[in-house]
Amino acid sequence: MRNSLIKGDTEMECTEKKGICSSCQHASTCSADEQRRHQEELMKERLQLIRHRIMVMSGKGGVGKSTVTANLANLLAEEGYKVGVLDADIHGPNIPTMLGVEGRTMGMSPEGIEPLELPNGLKVVSLGFLIKDKDTPVIWRGPLKMGVLRQFLSEVNWGNLDFLFVDLPPGTGDEPLSIVQLIHHLDGAIVVTTPQHVALLDSRKSVNFCHKVNVKVVGIVENMSGLICPHCGEEIDLFKKGGGEKASVELGEPFLGRVPIDPALVEAGDRGVPFVTRFAKSPAAKALKEIGERLLQFVGEK
Ligand code: ADP
Repeated sequence: MRNSLIKGDTEMECTEKKGICSSCQHASTCSADEQRRHQEELMKERLQLIRHRIMVMSGKGGVGKSTVTANLANLLAEEGYKVGVLDADIHGPNIPTMLGVEGRTMGMSPEGIEPLELPNGLKVVSLGFLIKDKDTPVIWRGPLKMGVLRQFLSEVNWGNLDFLFVDLPPGTGDEPLSIVQLIHHLDGAIVVTTPQHVALLDSRKSVNFCHKVNVKVVGIVENMSGLICPHCGEEIDLFKKGGGEKASVELGEPFLGRVPIDPALVEAGDRGVPFVTRFAKSPAAKALKEIGERLLQFVGEK
């Protein structure tokens, strides 16, 4: 069995013994350099089994990036695609809650770390599954974070996937850069924003980051775009409207769609319920489905 070590200073289970290479059978004879090379080879092998690799970014926190990731992943899994979600938000992993697998732990098999699997086949990996105390902050510098992401890509038994969604923390810091460096052939990035000016300024940074590191932009999602009043049915533009589309025109990138504010989306996220299928007839679910369709067109699946 391959040994797994998620390096860090939190109280995590550590199964690697000193001097044992976690990536090959020749265990104790591998030097540190060889171990690194074996890990790179293993990561390459694993990534070759993943057809489309999509990262989901935002300039700001709380704009609905994880919500969009979780719903697109569920949507495609329900359509029969083999889908994985890598929660790369090391400091605030919300994906386990949104996908209804909070508090669970990942197992080991002869193939490596086993992702958690939902009934629809969706595979999930998150640091949230490894941190015992949710209130303890993860205080890691860049190299350590990159080490964990490398292990999530090399030692997790993702198997054959049609899509891997990488849910990034907000901004353009260590994690997006690490993911771009580790996953050489990303299909593209989805940028999530809200319609107001300040959020849009930050989302421009995400788009410019993609331009700098040569990652294609799948498009911009304008989330929390308008609220349908449950009493009178009138639309209220709580955070304004249309800014995401305007930014996409200015930046010359596709606009993927607007997702309205829907209280059921908050409830579903908190309870780990797949909103997009459970509330399929709602305007927000329809918008998410259209975004899914545009993603499928982008990667050439439709
Ligand atoms: P991020 O990943 O960008 O930090 P989240 O996806 O965690 O943001 O969303 C932040 C909060 O906003 C969550 O409580 C989520 O349920 C809620 N939320 C996201 N999108 C919507 C929406 N369209 N309508 C209502 N609530 C939303």
